[in-house]
Amino acid sequence: MNQDVDHKIKLVCEHCSATNQFPVEKLDHEPQCGKCHNHLFTGKPIIVNSQSLIKHIENSDLPVLVDFWAPWCGPCQAFAPVYEDFAQSVGNQMRVLKLDTEANQQAAMDFNIRSIPTLALFGGGRELNRMSGALPLPQLQQWVVQQLTEE
Ligand SMILES: [Zn+2]
Repeated sequence: MNQDVDHKIKLVCEHCSATNQFPVEKLDHEPQCGKCHNHLFTGKPIIVNSQSLIKHIENSDLPVLVDFWAPWCGPCQAFAPVYEDFAQSVGNQMRVLKLDTEANQQAAMDFNIRSIPTLALFGGGRELNRMSGALPLPQLQQWVVQQLTEE
C-alpha cells in the first residue's frame, strides 16, 4: 500500500460523509470521525448512494470495493452474508461499499454496470478491476488480494 510522505490517511465517514484525514498510526486505534464522532470502521459494508459512492472513491486512501446489487436479484441476496463476512475480515484495511443499483440508477449507468452483482475494486481514485457474479468468501478474498498485489 502506498503511503503519503507525511503518513496521513484520508477517509470518508459513512455516517456524515465528511472527509477525514489522520495519521496512519491511528488506523489501528478505532479512528473516529472528526465531525460526527462516529467510528470510521464498523466492520460492516457501507451503504452508499450515487453521490457518496463518488466521494468514497475519490477521497479514500484505502482500496475501495463496491458491490453493485439490487433487492430483486436472488444471487445478490445470497451473496450479502458473504460480503458482510468479507467486510468483517478486512477490518480497517479497505473500504467495503454496497450500492443498490435500483435506488441509484444513475450510478449504475455511470459505472456501466451490465449485470449484478458486480464487484468493482478502486484504488487511488480509479477502477482497478471488476468482476461479475457472486462467489464464496475465500475466492473473493483471493481475487481482491490478486488485484492489489498486481498494482
Ligand atoms: Zn462523520
